[in-house]
Amino acid sequence: MADAPFENMLAQMDRAKEYADVDDGIFERLKHPERTLKVTLPVELESGDVEVFEGYRCQFNSARGPFKGGVRFHPSVTQREVEALAGWMTWKTALVDLPYGGAKGGVICEPKELTDRDLERLTRRYTEGIRRMIGPETDVPAPDMNTNPQTMAWMMDTYSMYEGHTVPQVVTGKPLEIGGTPGRVEATGRGVSIVTGRLFEYLDRDLTDATVAIQGFGNVGSNAAKLLDEAGARIVATSDVTGAAYDPDGLDVDALDAHVAAGGLIDEYVAGTLRDVPTGDGDRNDDRDRSRWDAPEMLSNDELLTLDVDVLIPAAVEGVITEANVHDLRASAVVEAANGPTTVAADKVLSGRDVQVVPDILANAGGVIVSYLEWVQNAQEFSWPLETVNAELERRIGTAFDQTIEQYDEKDLPDLRTAAYTLALERTASAHEYRGLFP
Ligand code: NAD
Repeated sequence: MADAPFENMLAQMDRAKEYADVDDGIFERLKHPERTLKVTLPVELESGDVEVFEGYRCQFNSARGPFKGGVRFHPSVTQREVEALAGWMTWKTALVDLPYGGAKGGVICEPKELTDRDLERLTRRYTEGIRRMIGPETDVPAPDMNTNPQTMAWMMDTYSMYEGHTVPQVVTGKPLEIGGTPGRVEATGRGVSIVTGRLFEYLDRDLTDATVAIQGFGNVGSNAAKLLDEAGARIVATSDVTGAAYDPDGLDVDALDAHVAAGGLIDEYVAGTLRDVPTGDGDRNDDRDRSRWDAPEMLSNDELLTLDVDVLIPAAVEGVITEANVHDLRASAVVEAANGPTTVAADKVLSGRDVQVVPDILANAGGVIVSYLEWVQNAQEFSWPLETVNAELERRIGTAFDQTIEQYDEKDLPDLRTAAYTLALERTASAHEYRGLFP
């Protein structure tokens, strides 16, 4: 099970290899991470106890440029998972044509059980552990699950202290005040909403009033929900670890967002709206009362996945669409906001049923695109307005979407994932060919 994401990634590569123009020897090289560092992180917690954490940084491939990839804090982190995520970063940066390779980091911990001071110490100790590997021209970390701009600020500060001067470019996803870019926080969700719109255009379908279910209402899920809601789609369900809120008439995304931004959970939100439902004389036609009548109901995360919707957006963890539930899926399109949400076995079933799946390496590439734009601004010591960042994001992810569709249609490939992987593998292999095999 611990190897599942890595095996999943290798199987996706093998599937695309059948159609990709890649030399066998180079393909073999592409299956192995360049290196993975494991670090032991003793931290004195605020409670006075000393706890020893374990962390990793995997540098998967650097043929196209410096390594790039997020850092995840989660109890289920494993070395193999970090390596799979680093591989996916390699294919993602190649697909959206950024001058980067792929990397990923992770620390095994439960952030909910740590105080802010504990998290700061852990982050700084982890940064010290990997600092000989990272750098603005070698490997540039960013946020991922349970890490955020504050985490990046601590990483940047720790690295800079050792260097003796401030090095903003060593990480992306920083707060604006210390070299972050406008638009980074919502970039992944914005990218998800852009590719969903592009998919509907390609399928000649109307996004207005299309029904959408989003698993996970964190950074990516909530921003995708807000932008798709603004574009006219109906967000009928979304979830967190406590379960899903479901309303076939469409959820009040702004109210839900305000609740979650204030630290609330989805089950509390649903319970709260139920409390507000009038018992007797509410008027369904009175706008002031409407939202009360439309109280959402609570579903499980598994039930959310099998709702009869136009678009399903998994935006939480890997491996949620599996052989066990894929036959019950009723969505006609899946946009993979999370990394690796669909197992290879489930993917084959969806492909056979002509369910369009926009693969993770395309659907969630908005984050790394805007990270790249942050890195470029830091190098220029110049900052761009939000409109410039968003326009560049739209242009780059739109181009990658068009190229994936072109590959899919021209080569008559079985699905969009295979199309995206063939492009990514060919680009990375071509970089290896030009550079040759050292020594
Ligand atoms: P996050 O921590 O902000 O949010 C995760 C959400 O998923 C939360 O609502 C959480 O309650 C929910 N969740 C966690 N475990 C769950 C489970 N087992 N079942 C159902 N829901 C669960 O994380 P995020 O930054 O939004 O990342 C979500 C996914 O998107 C991850 O797979 C991540 O790798 C991927 N991703 C994130 C970015 C980014 O810029 N943040 C970029 C690319 C890909």
